[in-house]
Amino acid sequence: MTDTVTLTIGKQKNIALIAHDGKKHELINWCRDNAEILKKHFLCGTGTTARMITEATDLPVRGYNSGPLGGDQQIGAKIVEGKIDFVIFFSDPLTAAPHDPDVKALMRIAQVYDIPFANNKATADFLIRSSLMDEEYDHEIINFKQNIAARAESLK
Ligand code: PGA
Repeated sequence: MTDTVTLTIGKQKNIALIAHDGKKHELINWCRDNAEILKKHFLCGTGTTARMITEATDLPVRGYNSGPLGGDQQIGAKIVEGKIDFVIFFSDPLTAAPHDPDVKALMRIAQVYDIPFANNKATADFLIRSSLMDEEYDHEIINFKQNIAARAESLK
């Protein structure tokens, strides 16, 4: 078995949209400015963010639970399942949040799975204008089956 597997991020991305409270209006405005591009993809997000974007822009955004109630963890789990492959997360660096461990966990799992992840507007602007938004993208991910087999063997 090989150490990596090739996964493909499709032409139509599965994009998660998340904003902390102090950044929600910035993300809503960003979604409005980029609605023509975003509507070509599948959108989801944490509960409050998803609802506010849909109300303000008419973009269909599937809502998970609110972030502090596990929404970030749901999005992390969908990344693990291969059902979310792109994240725009306007986090607030100046305000403490009760669910900070969940936010860290989401960032970490996005790194593990080599997911494009914008944590501020400038990064989101560069990502959304990338020619790769309209293309398939192959990337190499750790081969989970091989990883489990090797760990089970080495821990005997
Ligand atoms: P919310 O969660 O969209 O429900 O506000 C976002 C967050 O705080 O992580």
